[in-house]
Amino acid sequence: MKLSYATGLRCLKCDAEYPLGRFFEGCTRCRTTDLIANLFVSYDYEKLETKVKRSTIAERPASLGVWKYSELLPVGGHDFMITLGEGGTPLIHCKRLGAHLGLRNLYVKNESANPTWSFKDRLCAVAVSKGLELKAKLVTTASTGNLGASTAAYAAHAGLPSIIFTLPTVSRTMLALMQVYGAKIIPVSTAEGRWKLMSEGVRVHSWYPTGSYTVPTASGNPYGVQGYKTIGYEIMEQLAWKVPDLIVHPTCWGEGMFGTWLAAKEYYDLGWIDQLPQMLAAESEAGGPLSYALAEPEHRLLPVKTKRTIASSIATSISSYQGLRAVIDSSGNAIRMSDKELLEMQKEIASSEGIFVEASSAASVAAAGKLRQEGSLDASDTVVCVLTSSGLKDAQTSQLAQLRLPTIDANWQQFMQVLGDMDID
Ligand SMILES: *Cc1c(COP(=O)(O)O)cnc(C)c1O
Ligand SMILES: [Zn+2]
Repeated sequence: MKLSYATGLRCLKCDAEYPLGRFFEGCTRCRTTDLIANLFVSYDYEKLETKVKRSTIAERPASLGVWKYSELLPVGGHDFMITLGEGGTPLIHCKRLGAHLGLRNLYVKNESANPTWSFKDRLCAVAVSKGLELKAKLVTTASTGNLGASTAAYAAHAGLPSIIFTLPTVSRTMLALMQVYGAKIIPVSTAEGRWKLMSEGVRVHSWYPTGSYTVPTASGNPYGVQGYKTIGYEIMEQLAWKVPDLIVHPTCWGEGMFGTWLAAKEYYDLGWIDQLPQMLAAESEAGGPLSYALAEPEHRLLPVKTKRTIASSIATSISSYQGLRAVIDSSGNAIRMSDKELLEMQKEIASSEGIFVEASSAASVAAAGKLRQEGSLDASDTVVCVLTSSGLKDAQTSQLAQLRLPTIDANWQQFMQVLGDMDID
């Protein structure tokens, strides 16, 4: 059995082809000072079609992690495929939350069920495995959040050292994760400074990057982005091949959303599904470059102003060509959510469904709710919101705990006094 049908890399913009090697800076042929298009992996779909059925893949156990889908991933040998059991996350029909938002068929894909509690594990499983295949000696990334934590964990599992360039403002929780997995953490005074150092490491010392480091950004290790396709494959399987009308991603650079979109396109082109979903990018109001690009007549990706926000995982001044393509090619859209909307929805998802996610992650559900309110979604539409990470990652910033609660003695009267108007019978 062939493990992978990957044949090469191709530019998303100009179709230039590259071999499956160390290409982490996007397409060098069509790059301009304003835009670098990322590469994506091409596969021999004709051959795959004759050997593999959708059921062959779907029937494999989730314990294989992302490698359940190895034929459509770019790693060619069992020895390189590392997994911490990422993927196989639950797709949950949210009836109460759905009723609240006026959406009967609202589903969430709970990515906080991943090994480091975020969807970045799908990217890192594939990126670091490809690194092993390409004989990487050291893994690196620039991150203040989930990408850093996940990179550190997967590098540790692969037995490779890692260096994470971060910022002095990195949160304690994220820092603790990166450190406990054994990464060398280097705070750098500016965001661009981190990329400069990373670029030198990759170019001169052959370090292996899990994220982007070019200006403008090509956005993402092209092999890692392939790992995100497994979100899309799983959603289609879990809905028994009924394609959702809309898939919503909390979006920073749009790598995750692009991966999910690629998955849908691949299954559609293989004839395994009969319809394509629309993609909605849920961005933060403290940025939101895709929303601006869509509003701009020529859809140019220009840097936008950012401001302070609790949505640190999705707030960005720049987006990517692949993110733009996912929304345009799917006739989708992008929408910006405020901190207030995110914090309210974070609480709502937890209290009405029992799922506690990062405030940034709540953007997907908040965005779906907003579209429904505006009337651009029907009550019967099937909507899948990706919840990208766990609420424990930013519990401090979100200030959810009410610490000033009175302590009482074991006395029923006192108890009734503090209980308030809750009905206990
Ligand atoms: C990284 C991240 C995102 C954004 O991912 P992109 O692929 O850059 O759009 C969203 N949510 C969380 C929690 C993240 O860590
Ligand atoms: Zn190109």
